[in-house]
Amino acid sequence: MEFSVLADAFERMESTTKRNELTQILIALFEQMPRDVVARAVYLLQGKIRPDFEGVELGVAEKLAIRALSKSSGVPTRRIEDQYRKDGDLGRASIDIMGQKTQTTFFVQDITVERVYETLFKIARLEGARSQDMKSRYISSLLNDARPAEAGYILKILLGTLRFGIAENTIMDALAAAFTGDKANRGAVERAYNVSSDLGAVAEAIAADGLEGAGRFKAEPFRPIRPMLAERVKSEEDAISKMGAGLAAEYKLDGERVQVHMSGKRVEIFSRRLENITAHYPDIVERLPQDVSADEAILEAEAVAVNEKTGEFLPFQELMHRRRKHKIEKAVSEYPVAVNFFDILYLDGKSCLEAPYTERRAMLEDAVTEGERVRCVVMATIASAQEMSEFMENAINAGSEGLMLKMPDAAYLAGARGSNWLKLKKEYRNELGDSLDLVVVGGFFGKGRRTGIYGTLLLAAYDDQLDTFPSVCKVGTGFTDEELDRLYQILHPKVTIRRNPRIDSTMEAEVWFEPELVIETVASEITLSPVHRAAWDAVRKDAGLALRFPKYTGRTRDEKPPESASTTREIVSLYRSQKKTPHAG
Ligand code: AMP
Repeated sequence: MEFSVLADAFERMESTTKRNELTQILIALFEQMPRDVVARAVYLLQGKIRPDFEGVELGVAEKLAIRALSKSSGVPTRRIEDQYRKDGDLGRASIDIMGQKTQTTFFVQDITVERVYETLFKIARLEGARSQDMKSRYISSLLNDARPAEAGYILKILLGTLRFGIAENTIMDALAAAFTGDKANRGAVERAYNVSSDLGAVAEAIAADGLEGAGRFKAEPFRPIRPMLAERVKSEEDAISKMGAGLAAEYKLDGERVQVHMSGKRVEIFSRRLENITAHYPDIVERLPQDVSADEAILEAEAVAVNEKTGEFLPFQELMHRRRKHKIEKAVSEYPVAVNFFDILYLDGKSCLEAPYTERRAMLEDAVTEGERVRCVVMATIASAQEMSEFMENAINAGSEGLMLKMPDAAYLAGARGSNWLKLKKEYRNELGDSLDLVVVGGFFGKGRRTGIYGTLLLAAYDDQLDTFPSVCKVGTGFTDEELDRLYQILHPKVTIRRNPRIDSTMEAEVWFEPELVIETVASEITLSPVHRAAWDAVRKDAGLALRFPKYTGRTRDEKPPESASTTREIVSLYRSQKKTPHAG
């Protein structure tokens, strides 16, 4: 398929912010697409070339892209850099530059999606001393045959700045409509995606075989499963009224969620964001085949840093030492971890996802041989709020941050946040009873010592019904100077020229960010707001909800994708519960 067809669709997508229009453009695009191109197009639409868990990164630096652009256009690098400064985006600059091309190509060949994809794939795989040179050559060869608009998109993909603000949900809607004839089949597409984490593969299967294709996806080792998520509850009573007596309560440990896949001696570990983090945990990799008696399994655990002498749990931050590329052996011996298994998703050829919690727990206990650093997370069946309070106290004393409450007869719902898992956290930080994880969507420059960096951030919650990020507060307290510097480094590359359409805000920020970074915030209360858009109209007509006296806790939640941020529903329920129990202050 000609790349120009994709580039045209990209262009139309860039000019709209309406989800419905985006979906229509995608449907039309998929409908005219040859089947064998669908998977590649879906990756490119997401600005990637392979699913995240494969870790195939393009890793092209701006300098290199500028050099290649100069070679293809005959325009000197200095002029390209000037244009880039003016446009603020190298993709856009390249459209202007290619328009002024001084070298004419005598033979213009139409470039195809297949060729662009294959070339990008080759670029991603290049390593070693001469790789920069080769990359530059590959890029130039594409740019030579590209029309200016196409060149712009190729560069955006290469630099990782291709962003339409299309959510996975929108792509799935369009896939369902285009290949099964009905958007209502989104659920089946989503189920396939939830167990495979590979939207390209799912798209290819349904393009070929419709719903039957989607039905073929099953849990299997070394393909991460999208994690099941929990809703929060405010009190023991709340939890009992939602789940009834007889629910299962587990310690909620403060570490890193790991999804461990094994087959014989081969072990791979995925993070909550489904990145392959096997390299961070060579100790788990080595031990696992002895710890788990199975030929093949997928298990979930919380890896927690522990004090080597006392075995006590240490705060989450200690795990950061494991994230380095070099001298990992040293980090492993200095920062030992305990593996606390809490679920089993696959065992010896069979998916366990459909089995009820109690059965999965029994299978887990059977499979895991407990030892000093390996355990099944502490669990108890709870009959009353009183019992839950006592169990909570034990959990806190053991260094947990609270409890996870699980519906005994519920299946594992991959990729879903629902009421079959609830989290109850220790009420320790603020009057709200819990911190909120919010998405940084905008920034305002600081004054004085904070000139040139963002002094205040605009934060948003996640609306899981509309799939948007409505604003919920501005936060300017709780930051040390070092932390503001660090946040600037993280946020600066996320600046966008136009506001991402999924951000819902009437407030104008000085800069807009891609909604990606999640930070932890506390507040004194939730109030009605005429300005902030979270839960708009939900509690009162023409009003949203906002945090009062928000404060940054100092913790970025790097492991959380923005869709795992606190939801507007959670904020509504916090608002309602504070109404019932007025607090002092
Ligand atoms: P939160 O990050 O606050 O949304 O809480 C959910 C996270 O708690 C999960 O993603 C896990 O990393 C972690 N967690 C700790 N203990 C458990 C447990 N027993 N069951 C499930 N998740 C747990």
